[in-house]
Amino acid sequence: MQSEQSATVETGRAAWSRNNPYTATALENRLLTGPGSEKETRHIELDLADSGIEYLPGDSAGILPVNTCDAVDLVLERLQFTGDEPVTDFYGKSLDLRQALTSWLMIGKLSGATLKAWAKLTSHPELAALIEPGSKEKLDAYLWGREFLDLLEHCPAKLDDPQLLFKLLPRLAPRLYSISSSQALLHTQIDLSVRVVKYQSHGRDREGVCSSHIGERTPPGGQLRLFIHSNQLFRLPADPAARVIMVGPGTGVAPFRAFLQHKQAGVGRWPMWLFFGDQRASQDYLYREDFENWLKDGTLNRLDTAFSRDQKEKIYVQQRIRENSTELWRWLSEGAYFYVCGDSKRMAPDVEAALLEAVATHSNKGPDYANEFLAEMKKQKRYLRDVY
Ligand SMILES: Cc1cc2nc3c(=O)[nH]c(=O)nc-3n(C[C@H](O)[C@H](O)[C@H](O)COP(=O)(O)OP(=O)(O)OC[C@H]3O[C@@H](n4cnc5c(N)ncnc54)[C@H](O)[C@@H]3O)c2cc1C
Repeated sequence: MQSEQSATVETGRAAWSRNNPYTATALENRLLTGPGSEKETRHIELDLADSGIEYLPGDSAGILPVNTCDAVDLVLERLQFTGDEPVTDFYGKSLDLRQALTSWLMIGKLSGATLKAWAKLTSHPELAALIEPGSKEKLDAYLWGREFLDLLEHCPAKLDDPQLLFKLLPRLAPRLYSISSSQALLHTQIDLSVRVVKYQSHGRDREGVCSSHIGERTPPGGQLRLFIHSNQLFRLPADPAARVIMVGPGTGVAPFRAFLQHKQAGVGRWPMWLFFGDQRASQDYLYREDFENWLKDGTLNRLDTAFSRDQKEKIYVQQRIRENSTELWRWLSEGAYFYVCGDSKRMAPDVEAALLEAVATHSNKGPDYANEFLAEMKKQKRYLRDVY
């Protein structure tokens, strides 16, 4: 049966886009973390049915979130609108305000532009002080952990024209999630590994707009709007025998599950070495069974794990890289590709430092040579990062 959704071209990667997303049905949504974990990370499987969507390991899925009914109701109530008011979207299409606040406008995170516009509209002295030149730090501190609703509660104002919200609020943007499956194995399916963002701020429990939409509100049978975000800079080596080192703590492991499935499907015979880490082995060992099975059947050649909270001193993946630096240097000398995925702020720079240290030590040529070696790896597209 043909899909009722319309793609711009018949099949393939170009058919669906951010502006013409495919509505996929969830096949599975299960917890990957244990009940005692500080994190909630979920495995999601989505049915691509006859969409014709194609992707490769290393690609991400762009997911278009929607705001929760509760959040929309509270904003409507504060603004004294019913939700039935007619407005037009960014492309001039008519819809009612409730639909606009649900699917088009970002209310879950307060932006600097919104605050500046609101300050001018309300002439509130506290907001006026935040947008004065030289107040960037104070402004950032105010914005951190606040939503549009917090601003409405702090500085109420009545809008005469609901259409103004399209000028005041940014567009609700899609979020990217690394695809954790290979189409060579699962032809009409996309898997994602999503950590649900949860935190407390300004006296309230908060959730990330998109991760909670996927993780908490998309049960099997539920639907998600998606498109493929291709990443040519994070591909398995074209040489099917090249060595592959993968460093992916937390949800950073997602694309490497796709790499391993690709190998399992027989696409290449790359020798593969995975570094995985998280807080506790008993609670946070994502895809443990998959990785242990791949280790047994030889799909995965080496696996090194680092669980930071399982002992007194914190151990991260970079320490495992240091401990195994002799072997790592052997792989690198034999032309291995080095992939890093996950946290950009601390993990990726720490892993790079450990990599440089390994090269400097085992080449016996010191840190300057290590920098040159890494620059050459980058030039040859053998040092590949997908960090966020
Ligand atoms: C290429 C790429 C691949 C990615 N792959 C994955 C993946 O495989 N799995 C995955 O889970 N994620 C992945 N991400 C991250 C993902 O895209 C989203 O950024 C993430 O899910 C958060 O989005 P959200 O809509 O849930 O949160 P948002 O609603 O955007 O909220 C996040 C924001 O909340 C605020 N915030 C967060 N914590 C606090 C706090 N403690 N106090 C105050 N404010 C806070 C911050 O302003 C933060 O920016 C990837 C990102 C990129 C760019």
